[in-house]
Amino acid sequence: MEITFFGAAQEVTGSCHVVRVGGKSVALDFGMFQGHRAETQEKNQSLPFTPDEIDAVILSHAHIDHSGRLPLLARYGFHRPVYATPATRDLCAVMLADSAHIQEKDAEFLARRHKSFAQPLYGQADVTRLMSRMMSVPYNMAFDPAPGIRATFVEAGHILGSASVVLECTEGAVSRRLVFSGDVGRWGLPIIRDPDPPHGADVVIMESTYGNRDHQSVADMPNQLARIIRETAAKGGRVLIPAFAVGRTQELLYDLHRLSRADAIPPIPIVVDSPLAIAATSIFATNPDAYDRTEELVADVDDLFDFERLQFARDAAASKALNTRIGPMVIIAASGMAESGRILHHLAHGASDPRNTILIVGWQAEHTLGRRIVERRPFLKIFGDEVPLRARVEVLNGYSAHADRGELVRWLGAVRGDDKQPLPVYLVHGEPEAQAALRDRLSEDGYVVTIPARNSTYQF
Ligand SMILES: [Zn+2]
Repeated sequence: MEITFFGAAQEVTGSCHVVRVGGKSVALDFGMFQGHRAETQEKNQSLPFTPDEIDAVILSHAHIDHSGRLPLLARYGFHRPVYATPATRDLCAVMLADSAHIQEKDAEFLARRHKSFAQPLYGQADVTRLMSRMMSVPYNMAFDPAPGIRATFVEAGHILGSASVVLECTEGAVSRRLVFSGDVGRWGLPIIRDPDPPHGADVVIMESTYGNRDHQSVADMPNQLARIIRETAAKGGRVLIPAFAVGRTQELLYDLHRLSRADAIPPIPIVVDSPLAIAATSIFATNPDAYDRTEELVADVDDLFDFERLQFARDAAASKALNTRIGPMVIIAASGMAESGRILHHLAHGASDPRNTILIVGWQAEHTLGRRIVERRPFLKIFGDEVPLRARVEVLNGYSAHADRGELVRWLGAVRGDDKQPLPVYLVHGEPEAQAALRDRLSEDGYVVTIPARNSTYQF
């Protein structure tokens, strides 16, 4: 039995690990590499295996860095099953369609700039082809993706539908239990259930995004959010929130719904201005069985995403009309790092007004507009213009959907249980610094930690 790490190896994108058992192969995730175009284009275009070498794909969750290259696999003729939880499958339908749209626009842009033909990585037809291969399997129900491999999804607590994957592998008389963490979420996140680490493993593949950091507490976020909205509304300003359309936007709406019911925020309009966020919100609304039933708001209301003062700006005209509206409001718009999407119009219009607040609720990569806002640069370049940054900037990192260092250690401890045997752990999905810090921390606890390089193979 062996594992090859084809992506998210010493980096945070391109998740893909292939497990081989008795001549059969199953891929865990097939994600997109993200970052500078020149560096990632080559990695995204070339398949690390031919489609007929793989008997099935098991997808941990819908984020593009885990699912984003599946349509490419379909384009090259992959016709075997892709297994995912029901909510992941639903989210993939909109997120991969959005990704295809971005690929097509990107190819058009390159073609215009270089005055030559540029082929998109994949298109809408490939997404449709892929979706027809997707099989949904509920949590905690074993299925057999290939002879000798029995798989089970368990709750990862990261985004709606997110799963860790348990593989019971059998080759001749030998059995090994492999656990793949997927992206580990956090205890206490709104809407979704807490992580449910599987008990017992012979080998673990674990993410390590925040292996060297601790987050603000989840529980404190609503109070901070309410404070920022109250202070901004008192000045007559707007709260502008760049937010990922899937996950973060719905968590914010959940907290705003609770705050609104408790009269903890003033009665100002709350506007979601992102077509993808609106589509994703519908998918949340149609997957209530993935909700955390122990949460008060989930138990108390019929519709989490329907409350007084919440509005959705569906088309471009409704989005533009917001600019001429008077009075305080909250605007949530994609993209999460303010690199594209409708948030750019709101920032171009509102960043220079000292009454406004720009609220950052997610991680901002280097070289993004979001990062420059966090750094409080005096000027922001938006649509080619220099816009002075006079709005207040606030950062809340407690909304992170990724486990921090302490939560990763907790998750892994639950997998190992009372059995203190040295457990082999492969760290994936992390920058080298975070991985090294987590390796040192885990080695103290007796884990045998490896940080695999891309394309490396290990027996297990
Ligand atoms: Zn993720």
